[in-house]
Amino acid sequence: MLEHQKILIIEDDFMIREVISTMLECEEFEVIEAEEGYDGITLAKQCLPDLILCDIMMPNLSGYDVLKRLGETEQTAAIPFIFISAKSQKNDVRLGMELGADDYISKPFTRDELVTAVKTRLKKQAERQHYYDGKISQIEEKMHELEQKLNQLIYADSELMFTPTQGWQGRFEQVVMTADKIITMTGEITEAIEREEFQLHYQPQVDIRTGEIIGLEALLRWQHHQRGMISPVEFIPIAEAKGLIVPLGEWVLKTVCQNAKKWQNMGYSFRRVAANISAQQLQQPNFGSKLLEILMDTGLSPQYLELELTESMVVQNIEQATNVFQQLKNMGVQIGIDDFGTGYSSLSYLNNFDFDTLKIDRSFVHNLDKQPKKQAMVQLMISLGHTLSLKVLAEGVETEAELSILKELHCDEFQGYLFSRPLPASEIEVLLQEHQKL
Ligand code: C2E
Ligand code: CA
Ligand code: CA
Repeated sequence: MLEHQKILIIEDDFMIREVISTMLECEEFEVIEAEEGYDGITLAKQCLPDLILCDIMMPNLSGYDVLKRLGETEQTAAIPFIFISAKSQKNDVRLGMELGADDYISKPFTRDELVTAVKTRLKKQAERQHYYDGKISQIEEKMHELEQKLNQLIYADSELMFTPTQGWQGRFEQVVMTADKIITMTGEITEAIEREEFQLHYQPQVDIRTGEIIGLEALLRWQHHQRGMISPVEFIPIAEAKGLIVPLGEWVLKTVCQNAKKWQNMGYSFRRVAANISAQQLQQPNFGSKLLEILMDTGLSPQYLELELTESMVVQNIEQATNVFQQLKNMGVQIGIDDFGTGYSSLSYLNNFDFDTLKIDRSFVHNLDKQPKKQAMVQLMISLGHTLSLKVLAEGVETEAELSILKELHCDEFQGYLFSRPLPASEIEVLLQEHQKL
């Protein structure tokens, strides 16, 4: 089983490299060699070996740095890594292990020690792989089954095909505007940013079982100096079309983080404050670094911020989304999938992304108690979310009857007019005060 597996040796000492190589070739392993760290990393990425043996003390790049760099790339991070070194003091061993090494062999070593260490690690890796393969195929099977059922239900129900909240493009077309109106509004949005006419309202997100407020979703409002309150449904598509969503979105993130930190300082506890993100924001090459800057400036810990993305944003830019996604996850922010159920019928991509929350679109929640078909769909969405270990939140809950069905279906969280409309920051503080008597 273990024969013919590929072992990469990174070692600057020619003699030691040859000895190890010969010992392993005798055991029918395929051996590749690098005489210094940078070459080792390149070879690891090119050949994807089954295991890496690496010296610690090397010119150019130390073994620790090699391990660190391999850990930064998804492809190479999981390759079993064993240090070989004369540095056998405890501290070196600990440092290596802390950096994620799997084992440590001290020079001089016997042939048996080397071969046993390599074989043991490869066996463990094979067992782990087998376990994950099994889990993944179980999840895939279950998802496929759920996906089919969901599609059957959605397409069987022609009414629903027309009612889900439409995506951006849909909303844009829905708000039929003349070119003039768009041009006027574009100028006005720029002025409005300067005039500070934008505000954030917050809608509570509630734990269905305990009734506690566990989060807040920030929703943008435009208090126009002449026309009064303008809905985001009207101005966001224009801001997006004109590239103004980038500065506006940055203002939203800054304000959300500032407010969240302020509320934490006031003693309120919550699991997250959520902000809606547009595709264009995510496409900015510096989105991750901008966000990090905002988090650092405001002092909010990343785990308290959730970014709400829609399915289509992820699916339409899958490659780019994967990179940004990984960056955001590494940073520690949470990611929610918004308006779930309205976009794509293929859900398999969900399995490739480590989301935290799945938000069922309000079109599936509306009149849930009166429509058994919707209940079946919502039930499937909840199972799907739970299969992927996500928290499932239902949006737009307006009646006790809808809430009670969601409870029966084991939905985790909800938000909607039944509990509260989105409120300005000052009113949210009053609500938090009432609900979290300290
Ligand atoms: P969304 O993210 O799906 O936000 C939920 C919408 O449902 C909000 O509309 C909210 O007021 C509304 N809602 C909440 N509870 C209920 C309910 O019980 N019944 C009904 N019928 N509606 C409910 P809103 O505030 O008009 O926002 C509309 C959309 O605009 C949002 O949909 C979101 O996609 C977008 N949006 C809002 N703020 C921002 C933002 O800061 N950035 C971006 N990119 N988009 C935003
Ligand atoms: Ca949202
Ligand atoms: Ca939504």
